[in-house]
Amino acid sequence: SVRVEGVRKCFGPVEVLKGIDLRVAPGEVVCIIGPSGSGKSTLLRVINRLEEPDGGRVFIDDEEITGKGVDINAVRSRLGMVFQNFNLFPHMTVLANVTIALRQVKGISKAEAERIARDRLEDVGLAEKANSRPAQLSGGQQQRVAIARALAMQPELMLFDEVTSALDPELVKGVLDVMTNLAKGGMTMVVVTHEMGFARRVADRVVFMDQGKVVEAGSPEQLFDDPQSDRLKKFLAEVL
Ligand code: ATP
Ligand code: MG
Repeated sequence: SVRVEGVRKCFGPVEVLKGIDLRVAPGEVVCIIGPSGSGKSTLLRVINRLEEPDGGRVFIDDEEITGKGVDINAVRSRLGMVFQNFNLFPHMTVLANVTIALRQVKGISKAEAERIARDRLEDVGLAEKANSRPAQLSGGQQQRVAIARALAMQPELMLFDEVTSALDPELVKGVLDVMTNLAKGGMTMVVVTHEMGFARRVADRVVFMDQGKVVEAGSPEQLFDDPQSDRLKKFLAEVL
């Protein structure tokens, strides 16, 4: 589970997170929607400790991960994060991309790491691409490799930041299908997305952010069918 309490973040004079509260229960899928610049990526980066918050606290399973003395690498090893740009290592095979952290961070043997990696590649439908290089794959396939790489580390929680935004439209579905299967398998997920269909179908809860605040949160039906605030109504009118 994740608990975000009163998180604030400033870049220079600009406060981009103005006191965010968020809870994600084990096995829950929370989709975060909102306009560009509303702070969605910054929030994920605070949860992953890629950014230091200027105020507030973040807990994973009741353990505070913000604050001094926390082992950031230990925190990150509990989280899987997938970004818009896949950041695979171009000079390595798909299999090596998925095994490298298993071997270097977890110290798992080559044979065992490759067994795990092949299982995860199978989960994302890419078992036959193990020996390809990233450049030989489509963007959607590369993104599925990035998901397999994160899953191989057995994270407690997966964070996704607009993982389909850079993809050609025909490649989006394959990636969303992988994420849907992951959700059905009980993974705890925080998903920043512009894919409103996915949010409606897969999210247990949807959070609408605007200007550094959570403006509305609730079930997909509540947010999409019965938005309360003018800001959410306006946002939905623009994206739907
Ligand atoms: P998008 O939908 O476009 O990805 P977002 O909701 O993810 O937007 P963020 O990337 O979190 O928004 O950015 C929130 C605000 O913080 C923006 O105004 C952005 O310009 C600013 N910002 C983000 N990162 C930095 C940084 N490292 N330095 C300065 N300003 C930043
Ligand atoms: Mg963003």
